[in-house]
Amino acid sequence: MESLQTNTERLYPEIIVDVGTVTFGEENRKKMTNNHLKRTENSKIIQATCALLNSGGGVIKAKINDKTYSYRCHGLGQDLETSFQKLLPSGSQKYLDYMQQGHNLLIFVKSWSPDVFSLPLRICSLRSNLYQRDGTSAINLSASSALELLRQKQSRAQRGRRRVKELQPWKVLDGSIQEEEDMRRFASEFLKKDKLMYKEKLNFTESTHVELKRFTTKKIVPRIREMLPHYISAFANTYGGYLIIGVDDKSKEVFGCKKEKVNPDLLKKEIENCIEKLPTFHFCHEKPKVNFTTKILDVYHKDALYGYVCVVQVEPFCCVVFTEAPDSWIMRNNFVTKLTAEHWIDMMLDIQPAPSSLAPEHSLPLISPASSALRSPSYPMKVLGFKEVLQQRLFPVTREEIQFKPESLCKKLFSDYKELEELMKMQIRPYSQGIVIFSRSWASDIGLRKEQNVLCDALLIAVNSPLVLYTILIHSSATEGPEYARNTAHQLKQKLGTVGGYTGRVCVIPRLMHLPNTQYRPCEVPVHYPQSYKLADEEEMEDLLQALVVVILLCSRSLLSDQLGCEFFNLLIEEQCEMLSESLQETQELFIHCFPGTRKTALAMKIMEKIKDLFHCKPKEILYVCEHDALKNYVAQQTTCQAMTRKTFMQGEFLKIKHIVMDETENFCSMYGDWYEKAKSITHPKVRGAGKKNPHHGVLWLFLDPLQVHHADVSGLPPSSAQFPRKTITKGIHCSLEIAEVMKQEMKKIKENPPSNIFPDTLALFREAVYEETMHAQALPGGVCETKTDLTIEQIATYVAERCHNLFQCGYLPKDIAILCRKGEDRGRYELALLKAMELTETHRATEAVFSQASGVLGSRIILDSIEQFSGLERNIVFGLSPECTLSEETHKLCFASRAIKHLYLLYEKRTVF
Ligand SMILES: [Zn+2]
Repeated sequence: MESLQTNTERLYPEIIVDVGTVTFGEENRKKMTNNHLKRTENSKIIQATCALLNSGGGVIKAKINDKTYSYRCHGLGQDLETSFQKLLPSGSQKYLDYMQQGHNLLIFVKSWSPDVFSLPLRICSLRSNLYQRDGTSAINLSASSALELLRQKQSRAQRGRRRVKELQPWKVLDGSIQEEEDMRRFASEFLKKDKLMYKEKLNFTESTHVELKRFTTKKIVPRIREMLPHYISAFANTYGGYLIIGVDDKSKEVFGCKKEKVNPDLLKKEIENCIEKLPTFHFCHEKPKVNFTTKILDVYHKDALYGYVCVVQVEPFCCVVFTEAPDSWIMRNNFVTKLTAEHWIDMMLDIQPAPSSLAPEHSLPLISPASSALRSPSYPMKVLGFKEVLQQRLFPVTREEIQFKPESLCKKLFSDYKELEELMKMQIRPYSQGIVIFSRSWASDIGLRKEQNVLCDALLIAVNSPLVLYTILIHSSATEGPEYARNTAHQLKQKLGTVGGYTGRVCVIPRLMHLPNTQYRPCEVPVHYPQSYKLADEEEMEDLLQALVVVILLCSRSLLSDQLGCEFFNLLIEEQCEMLSESLQETQELFIHCFPGTRKTALAMKIMEKIKDLFHCKPKEILYVCEHDALKNYVAQQTTCQAMTRKTFMQGEFLKIKHIVMDETENFCSMYGDWYEKAKSITHPKVRGAGKKNPHHGVLWLFLDPLQVHHADVSGLPPSSAQFPRKTITKGIHCSLEIAEVMKQEMKKIKENPPSNIFPDTLALFREAVYEETMHAQALPGGVCETKTDLTIEQIATYVAERCHNLFQCGYLPKDIAILCRKGEDRGRYELALLKAMELTETHRATEAVFSQASGVLGSRIILDSIEQFSGLERNIVFGLSPECTLSEETHKLCFASRAIKHLYLLYEKRTVF
């Protein structure tokens, strides 16, 4: 039993908090005579629960004291239940499940999820320890009231206002009008006295600003230490006020503290010490201390000194004062840890910590995600808006049999390892509805370490099952298997909640497997979860898949994230097209300046569809013109409109054409005549002679990348200053963050050192800050950008071949890849070396490793062509080969980068020495 327990624990993909031995059951807990022990047990469990709630969930393990205990018969115990209810007023059943396993009671704690219907609290707390004055009471604020107060103080500080309320010159007292302000005034005058009479009656009572206390106790100092913080915090956080010690709050008579019982100087000192120790937090820059005055007034009884009244006056505080650090907990280094006031406020208000303090994602073992993950995302918010569409496109929940994804990877795996398919089918037999998502390593996809011994991981998401992560090992001797599987499962689970925003109960059960032809069978210890951790129905499965879509898009680097990324960009382009097409009616002639990476060809093709729908014209009445054959072929295959190159355009007659869309006009030249005039004469024919009326006005839209205009003087484009009306699309960056960064750097260089062919007003369009903002709003993380210099042709070839080999192993296909060189004649220089290297690396598709030219972009082969021929086209993975680093390398970097979606490898040859 014992060894099984430890094994189970080692496999539980959760943070486990061991709280030691605990008495459970209503009867047993009632009978407990040791109240201190009872309270300790209670607070240990509640603090652990709070910490796990705030740290992505986990399991509390308690050893049951009573050997005859049964959860089913005896329950938990009323005091525990009450504490849970206090911690989770919206219902502890939403977060907690209990399970007895032998002599252990496990409490499964779900991750805290902010209640969307009220003020969303990012963490949960037992007590805020922030007080405010409410009438004559000092109230310990609930977490949501505390959040309200923090936000108020924060915004006041941001607006540069320090004082809570300016003190107004006091009004003249009027006997018929009494208000609360009067009590403050009287209290203030009371403070000015230096002598009081025993049993003298005050002319004011308690209020928001005044608290009266009469101490009959002998232990004055400990009592003051105990209650002072509440009143100071309450007055300081509200409007300030007076705490008057030694006056009866009912009769308002002065009693004072007997002079024998108290030393006035020591009392004063004690109060000062006590207030100085209170934790404060500032939003303001001035950061003053709590401002207070202590005054000891002598009380006389028949001319003799009887005792003292002590008055503490507190000024309203600029920010907040606690009585002590809030009672809120997190897991840190696997320990239940109390938050400091500062950290608590950071988490409550979602204040981003400085980057250096962020725990690295890769750190093992399990890290608490609470600090980093519940923070507001710095990733494209659009992803959240599209998660439903993306899920339906890539992971539709159907009633058909269980699907294996992604197809290309499964095909590769099942053909390389024949037994794998059978093995997986055996595993999924009990389930009828679901998806299995394969990866070479789910761990490495989500940023953990890959294990050499792992053949692949497969994540099962099925109705009526918890999530299961199968890890298939290659070698029988794999000792690192369990640790790998557990860490991966745990990270995945955490990310579903913290990144994916999944709010339901979720677990990922790790399961180790091996291919049947090996001898060793890893010992399979069952990991039990409560029933409620199973996906109940299609709806829950869809919610979970949507969370998974977000996780894959935002924190993984894999084939799947690339596929989802492409879909995501398509959605963005559709959205952009919708906005752009609003101009179709009123702006027939338009120059559309698209920055690199904005995918103007995709946009141009979608616009043609819009023209067709809007003007109800036949596809053949719309003409698409570009410079190169490859792009022309591509567009011709993708749309029903006519597509041709500029050369053909200049040679033909187009009587039926009504609308023209011209793409990549930055590459045009005026050879064969003035293409711009010709296009205009088609879309806007001149009316000849009277009598003719209602001349046809068609659309002529010209797309160009103003930063890649090749030969401005000969391009045939009107000068930049005459390109009007014009729209500039800078908001739309459809590639990985890594590639967008390269483009930004290149554009910055161009702006700082502009080549002669780029007009200054074009450069003015590029604003780094705006680009940066768009980049973070749209570009996706998880891309690759590598640069290697000083290579020989052979080294370049080997690098490409090895990369391709690895990519194919992960399920990428030759059609995902383009190898681009700078000039057409370079193609011949690289082709042989590349083919040879691919054969040597035994790339699985070596026999298929025949390259195709840019015109075969829709085909299934790797493209090997010049950057020029490939203009306007894209592939997910681009290798940019350059014979040497020349002065104009920068512009070429930009060309290569704008052709890639997620992976960019820039390889430069050694400079030839003459
Ligand atoms: Zn302040």
